[in-house]
Amino acid sequence: MFKTIEEHVRKQVAPAALRAEFRQHEFEAMRPFCMLVFCVSILIWLVFDLIVSFLGGQGFTWLSYLFITLLGCLTVILRFTRSSHHFDVLNLLFISAITLGMRLVIEGIPEPLRPVWLVLGVSTVLYAVSVLPVRRWSFFCALSITWVMLNPFYHTRIEADELEGAMLISYALFLSGLVTYSYLQIRQAKLHNFYLSKVLLEQAYIDALTDIPNRRAFMAKAERQLHLAKPGQYLAMIDIDNFKRVNDCFGHDVGDEVLKRVAMHIRASMNGFEYARLGGEEFAILFDGLDEQHAMQQVGGLCNRVREDNADHPVTISIGLAQVNRGDSLTAALVRADQALYAAKHSGKDRYVLWQPAP
Ligand code: GH3
Ligand code: MG
Ligand code: MG
Repeated sequence: MFKTIEEHVRKQVAPAALRAEFRQHEFEAMRPFCMLVFCVSILIWLVFDLIVSFLGGQGFTWLSYLFITLLGCLTVILRFTRSSHHFDVLNLLFISAITLGMRLVIEGIPEPLRPVWLVLGVSTVLYAVSVLPVRRWSFFCALSITWVMLNPFYHTRIEADELEGAMLISYALFLSGLVTYSYLQIRQAKLHNFYLSKVLLEQAYIDALTDIPNRRAFMAKAERQLHLAKPGQYLAMIDIDNFKRVNDCFGHDVGDEVLKRVAMHIRASMNGFEYARLGGEEFAILFDGLDEQHAMQQVGGLCNRVREDNADHPVTISIGLAQVNRGDSLTAALVRADQALYAAKHSGKDRYVLWQPAP
């Protein structure tokens, strides 16, 4: 079963809305990691800058203070960034600043040593970018910026047509290819997992026949809502009248169509409330923020709507309505609504009954 769903998901292209949701979800989950990467990058840059400044005798100039301030500000902005789109841009700004800072530090060391440090810098930045939650355009911009800023042929004695230069170009191509491949693969795998878990969750909480929430969804949501203990909560239990007869006379397929139709009426008229198919031909609705009069109006309206539906195989429904009191458990509320439903069935069906405490 899992394999079938997985194959189905693998074959499908994730819809644009789901991709956008995935990017936002991914960014929110990884924001602390992004902060860590920014902070560690600043720290490493600072250590190198201090070594070159003091051991190399260059002195700690105003430029160093400027870069520290700039990188620090970008990290603080990241702390308050909420949108993945903003992070795509922020990350590019950070990469532009830190690679420029790295270039300036490396310019301060002897020329023969520069290519090695430049390539080391490029590898580190590209590896870090490949695991960050950025979109494709942002990743490829970062790749270009890094190579432009830390170009090992600029201000060094290496020539592209010499052996050393040719080796450097081969390494650059290999590194860029590897990093791009792993970035794309990781993104694809994460998107696939996100999509798969969405599909599985939907299947776990949606009734396959009627396409409305199922018992599991209702229990979880209603339980949460009951805990809020707001006034004006009513629970309705709905049961199709003489449904067995529909199945027996017209077949199971027609029975299924009737179930779908009743579910459609509930969905259309109960927008804004929690509703579900509990199982078989039973449904439930949790009303929130209604007084008794309005709750009765709602269920009465639903009875009329189903009765007046000019479909091929007309049915009626019975409804048990019960007020949910402060501190009531969902089970207690369901029992009362069920008792009211029983009363509706035994007083002639095609009606609703409001639960009343025994005199
Ligand atoms: P009452 O008015 O007292 O509710 O009578 P009823 O015939 O509806 O009584 P009952 O609750 O015993 O019948 C429920 C029937 O619903 C029995 C079962 O075969 C049928 N049923 C349950 N689930 C499904 C389903 O998914 N599809 C179809 N077609 N029938 C179902
Ligand atoms: Mg029943
Ligand atoms: Mg029934």
